[in-house]
Amino acid sequence: MPKVKTNRVKYPEGWELIEPTLRELDAKMREAEMDTHDGKRKCETLWPIFKVSHQRSRYVYDLYYRRKEISKELYEFCLDQGYADRSLIAKWKKSGYERLCCLRCIQPRDHNYGTTCVCRVPKNLREEKAVECVHCGCQGCASGD
Ligand SMILES: [Zn+2]
Ligand SMILES: [Zn+2]
Repeated sequence: MPKVKTNRVKYPEGWELIEPTLRELDAKMREAEMDTHDGKRKCETLWPIFKVSHQRSRYVYDLYYRRKEISKELYEFCLDQGYADRSLIAKWKKSGYERLCCLRCIQPRDHNYGTTCVCRVPKNLREEKAVECVHCGCQGCASGD
């Protein structure tokens, strides 16, 4: 069922502490979306968007799971409001995926070689030292890199 957005959102306690950062990331997101595509490869124009959405999810995740500074209620609120990506965070909780950049990079059908994106290969296992994957511009997100 589609979510009905109303203006009468009830903000949980603690919202005012995280609101400035989320607003800032929101602004960055809008900037990334409006960025001109001149001179960039098509895939590259999406990278800033992936980056900001990753940052936003990571921020909410850290606040709840690592820094334990926000309540479960506020955490769930952020997910419901789309400030963080629930499915990406679900991956971060799994061992080996703690630093995963985006969900596309673990989808087998999107890759030319093998079943995983080049950015998921640990540094010590890959030949070239510097990588930048086409999906989100990730420069390596294997755990332990
Ligand atoms: Zn990656
Ligand atoms: Zn990748």
